[in-house]
Amino acid sequence: MGTPPLIVFTDLDGTLLDHESYSFDPARTALERLRALEIPLILASSKTAAEIVEIQRAIGCQAFPAIVENGAGLLDPATGGASSDGRYIELLAAINEVSPSIRSQFEGFHDLGPKGIVQATGLTPEAARLAAKRQFSEPGLFYGGPEDLDAFLRALGKLGVKARRGGRFLTLSFGGTKADRMDEIASGFGNPPRLALGDAPNDVEMLEAADHGVIIANPHGADLPRLPGEAAGLIRRTALPGPLGWNSAVLDLLYQMDL
Ligand SMILES: [Mg+2]
Repeated sequence: MGTPPLIVFTDLDGTLLDHESYSFDPARTALERLRALEIPLILASSKTAAEIVEIQRAIGCQAFPAIVENGAGLLDPATGGASSDGRYIELLAAINEVSPSIRSQFEGFHDLGPKGIVQATGLTPEAARLAAKRQFSEPGLFYGGPEDLDAFLRALGKLGVKARRGGRFLTLSFGGTKADRMDEIASGFGNPPRLALGDAPNDVEMLEAADHGVIIANPHGADLPRLPGEAAGLIRRTALPGPLGWNSAVLDLLYQMDL
């Protein structure tokens, strides 16, 4: 197979999936065009491989890799998501090295267990079961004040563990962003031009690393600040939210590229 004319990296919630219904139906026309053109569609999300593989199957893009756990790891299509533990065991061990008085103020998904995850996230038990199948990163709640949080993050930093805040959750991993993983995946396809679509702060690096970035309107979240790529014309914003905006942005670019 030669190099495809384009590779598409997309966030899921609020981007390809509707914020409320989780449907990608309004994006079907663009998805079918991508399939006909054999353009790789790479899902990139905070979700686990176990969660993403189900969405890949529904969309029909399970032949492609995906960026999982916010870039902390990759889903290899050869394994169907049921792959190794990644570095999760090593990560949990590092977190447990923090002194108990500080460590005890953090409750990760592993500590919470399936029932605790349901309570903390509002996910259904089945969804929580998939969200608990972690390979690369550990989200959790930190109950202490800012000083203890600083001490926690400093101690983790010495162990090579990085932290990202997203909403209520603090997510710990050995690093890696959605943008880091884009390079890895795009090179596997011969480095075609990249289109990236996202709606939230954890998508910014991906949008900025792409040749074409699209900020999907998100009426439910805070507006993203204006990005440097917007002035340069590399990043644009959709008027329509979620999969509706996704559909028109992808079709527009294919048209613009004569595809
Ligand atoms: Mg999103």
